[in-house]
Amino acid sequence: YKMVEIKYVPTICPYCGTGCGLNFVVKDDKIVGVEPYKRHPVNEGKVCPKGNFGYEFINREDRLTTPLIKENGEFREASWDEALDLVANKLKEVSDDDPNKVGFYACARSPNENIYITQKLARVACGTQNVDHCARICHGPTVAGLATTFGSGAMTNGFDSIKEADYIFCIGSNNMEAHPLFGRKLIQAQKNGAKLVVLDPRYTPTAKIADEYVQFKTGTDVALMNGMIKVIIDNDLQDDEFIKNRTKGFDELKETVQKYDLETVSEITHIAPEVIEELAIEYAKADKAAIVYSLGITEHSHGADNVMSTANLAMLTGNIGREGTGVNPLRGQNNVQGACDMGALPSDYVGYRKVADQETTDWFNEYYGTNLPAKPGLTLVEMMNAAHAGDLKVLYIHGEDPVLSDADIKHTKEALANLDMLIVQELFMTDTAQCADVVLPAAGWGEQEGTFTNGERRVQCLHKAQEPPEGAMLDWKIMEEIAVRMGVPREKFHYESAEEIFEEIRECAPIFAGMNRERLDTPEALHWPCPSVDDPCQPLMHKDKFAHPDGLGIFQALEHRGPVEVPDEEYPLLLTTTRVLFHYHAAMTRRCKTLDNEVKTGFIEINTEDAKELGILNNEIVKASSRRGEIEIPARVTDDIKKGIVNIPMHFTECAANMLTNSDSFDPKCKMVELKACAIKVEKI
Ligand code: SF4
Repeated sequence: YKMVEIKYVPTICPYCGTGCGLNFVVKDDKIVGVEPYKRHPVNEGKVCPKGNFGYEFINREDRLTTPLIKENGEFREASWDEALDLVANKLKEVSDDDPNKVGFYACARSPNENIYITQKLARVACGTQNVDHCARICHGPTVAGLATTFGSGAMTNGFDSIKEADYIFCIGSNNMEAHPLFGRKLIQAQKNGAKLVVLDPRYTPTAKIADEYVQFKTGTDVALMNGMIKVIIDNDLQDDEFIKNRTKGFDELKETVQKYDLETVSEITHIAPEVIEELAIEYAKADKAAIVYSLGITEHSHGADNVMSTANLAMLTGNIGREGTGVNPLRGQNNVQGACDMGALPSDYVGYRKVADQETTDWFNEYYGTNLPAKPGLTLVEMMNAAHAGDLKVLYIHGEDPVLSDADIKHTKEALANLDMLIVQELFMTDTAQCADVVLPAAGWGEQEGTFTNGERRVQCLHKAQEPPEGAMLDWKIMEEIAVRMGVPREKFHYESAEEIFEEIRECAPIFAGMNRERLDTPEALHWPCPSVDDPCQPLMHKDKFAHPDGLGIFQALEHRGPVEVPDEEYPLLLTTTRVLFHYHAAMTRRCKTLDNEVKTGFIEINTEDAKELGILNNEIVKASSRRGEIEIPARVTDDIKKGIVNIPMHFTECAANMLTNSDSFDPKCKMVELKACAIKVEKI
């Protein structure tokens, strides 16, 4: 008999920001499966369903392998030369006229090296600061909120730190579905003696493992945390020494929370006064209390305020800079942390070096040979609005699917249709690619070298396990070709490998300076900030001082604002949106047969009493509508959701939650759109 040769190639999961280590199983030079990486420090040899079956999309027959150009509303195949020339000529023509008329969305699923090149194409070839990515509408408030309070917009502790906590305050975060291997660490923390309290409008799988579940009204987080802060101060449970030595702004905070007495907060949040009091006292009295949050905190028109409230609580009680404590935002996509780090932000170059700082922009202009303004560009939300208004002419979307993921799909489609040219670099014909004028087929996960950065700032190597399908190109090579065709001298925009791109990243960003390849290419890898090759580059931040220049954390005095669109007589229910365990957005997991078989379409969760009042039965197809649009969707009648609130998972094009959400209401501090709250009605058909 014949021996079958199997190879194992180490990689990192391409779905959530937990960043689990996997090994591709490779047979006859093709990926045929994955196995968890046994020694990996994040997942310790375990894996969730997405990690286990999420490779099935790679060798699908519907992978894009030929550039496509739309003519008279129909796509036709084109050569790479024709497509690249068309894109380069259009980008050059429009950016020469006005660099503000072009925009770029970078891909938070792609390796750091590709993302760095996307922002470099925008800045160097087009001279624009209009570059952003999907963090704007997931953890944009984390970056803004934690940078304002702590001086750095990232998770303060490593994932394993949670195992040392005595008390875990988990708010708006359904880890057991969205970050399952981090969810496993919560269970380990409980085994070690921690009390896990979960606060959510939905009785989620994470709420089900909690020691205490607190249901509350969507969008009332600031009121709740202000109320807790008042209780802590009234009971003299604050950490006076920490406040005095390490923070500023406490007096303003103390004054602001005075009106958030228990009765007022209870009325706003729908949590009983004694429960709010108990939450505050237990959090403050714990020796090591950790806060965990996700998109339930961030995806609001006051998302940055929500984030800063968590920072206020942590600083008030000295729960920062130690293991088992901290403010722990769980990042969504596998490399959304990396996309922020790489400077795919209109306000920041790579390594969070500020565009608005003239000296920094001068440094980059010298380094890149550009003439960029020291003025931040447009955010993703602003770019879409500018396209809608006819002010943005060309948009380059690298691996994102805003037609499914941005709020108000009708508005998004109208904006994209209004462009002179939409360029989409993709693996599959997504909803957004269908709207494109030019589609560029790219290499995918497992087909390239590079690095991902997980939610605890751990930069990890991924390796190539098979060739891309014939006709598809490496992302950074596509963008290099475009830059050169636009007239950038090849010697200023040329790389032989992803490793060479990472060397440039190290030169530009001091937080990565100590990450040489030898140190990086181990399962343990390195966390940023990593200023030198001698630095241990460990995850715990803000140990002795915060990242502001004076080393102090800054309390923020905040007021409760609540959702912009609230239920009324016409639209009496408040819609929130979520993910399910088996899907991560749609383009990849819905093309994985095993995952797709688990949850084949969307549903609307509706409280049993609300359903009874509306005469709606379980599994009945209903009409859900808002001021923006309507969908038909099966009802899931359940007591797991608060009365008056309904929930739709965001993955399913045929009953897309974002047909209903609201793109008008966004956070002035970070331009986050209110994806977690809008008014809708549900009717029998
Ligand atoms: Fe992948 Fe996240 Fe699951 Fe880990 S927990 S296997 S990173 S989806």
